[in-house]
Amino acid sequence: MNNYLSDANWLEFEKNHVWHPYAPLEGALPPYPVKSAQGVYLTLEDGRKLIDGMSSWWSAIHGYNHPILNQAAKAQLDSMSHVMFGGLTHRPAAELAARLVSLTPEPLEKVFLCDSGSVSVEVAIKLAIQYWAAVGQPGKQRMLTVRRGYHGDTAGAMAVCDPETGMHHLFTQILTQQFFAEAPSVVRDEDWQDSDIANFRSLIETHHDQIAAVIIEPIVQGAGGMRFYAPEYLRQVRGLCDKFKILLIADEIATGFGRTGKMFACEHAGISPDIICLGKAMTGGYLSLAAVLTTAEISRTISANPPGAFMHGPTFMANPLACAIANASVDLLLDSPWQERIPAMTEAFANHLQPCLAWDGVADVRWIGGIGVLELEQPVNLTSITRRFVDKGIWARPFGRLVYVMPPYVIDDKELETLLSALTQTVAEEFMG
Ligand SMILES: *Cc1c(COP(=O)(O)O)cnc(C)c1O
Repeated sequence: MNNYLSDANWLEFEKNHVWHPYAPLEGALPPYPVKSAQGVYLTLEDGRKLIDGMSSWWSAIHGYNHPILNQAAKAQLDSMSHVMFGGLTHRPAAELAARLVSLTPEPLEKVFLCDSGSVSVEVAIKLAIQYWAAVGQPGKQRMLTVRRGYHGDTAGAMAVCDPETGMHHLFTQILTQQFFAEAPSVVRDEDWQDSDIANFRSLIETHHDQIAAVIIEPIVQGAGGMRFYAPEYLRQVRGLCDKFKILLIADEIATGFGRTGKMFACEHAGISPDIICLGKAMTGGYLSLAAVLTTAEISRTISANPPGAFMHGPTFMANPLACAIANASVDLLLDSPWQERIPAMTEAFANHLQPCLAWDGVADVRWIGGIGVLELEQPVNLTSITRRFVDKGIWARPFGRLVYVMPPYVIDDKELETLLSALTQTVAEEFMG
């Protein structure tokens, strides 16, 4: 391969031609070029090394350039990187399904493998609608969710993101109008009050004959505001879904694979959804891959009724390369001491973040599992705060009033100390002058 662009001008070209997520094409602060990544470190083109606080958006849980994941990728490349999944199958897909069936709560046992988190949300919504059509209740087509959620960027997913703060209000007119309950606000079961779920309950009581499914992020609402809520809320949601014959979709794309301290966040509440969406950390951050698991009953009902198949099938469904890496990543996780590392992270968050609550400009601090959050009173200046992070040798990507980290699980105590000290010091400099 010959380079099209010279060492001197590739970045200039990039800046003028390549979109970045939720950013203007020619943004105020150009993105930082990364040359390589290893363990918890990102190495920039200019040689600076940054401790990664983001796990590349929840995904790189084992750190970067991991020899075991590299080996799995190379081995799979040498046999096949992709074949169509229509009429064909392969061992990596079966192996991944076996792992997911064994890890996720019962009775989830039928697996749909697709390309990305957003697509898995579309699949989950379509499964729910098709199920009710199959049992002769085609009127059940709408979704009920809670405010402050985030479920992805495609149309079906956008329609269940928070309608005001969800970044998608421009598209409201073309989206299905779904039902939104007030966001859960009680954080701990000890503080539980029935009033927290009153609005949700009244929506379900009024509209249950139109509702196919409830979709919700269990325990942690991620990109919609990094909010945590009480397991009791989720238990009550499960109970109401059962009572009113509504399916429950758990969007565990961010929370899955250990991030909240449990393998899946549903385990905090001891509940099991009818449909679960997984993504992000599933390949350890190597490739885009997502999965939807559902029950035998739902799968059987869909297959046994017209049109006799679930109506979805992306080109890169169950991509073998991604499946092989996911298998290695899941095994690596299970073989690792993640159940000790995550509480160690939680403790470090408590030590570093708790004192910040006393600072002017800090509205709240919170942490759960491997997620630490500083909520400020004012939105951050992204350009200036990012510069300070990079100058101090760390990588974090705040949004709005939220500065947060979810480091790779392999981060050691010293690196975590450096990351959190630099993070809080930066916030102090930005907001307290
Ligand atoms: C990231 C995310 C999605 C969307 O996943 P993509 O892979 O970005 O399409 C959906 N739901 C939740 C909870 C997420 O965190």
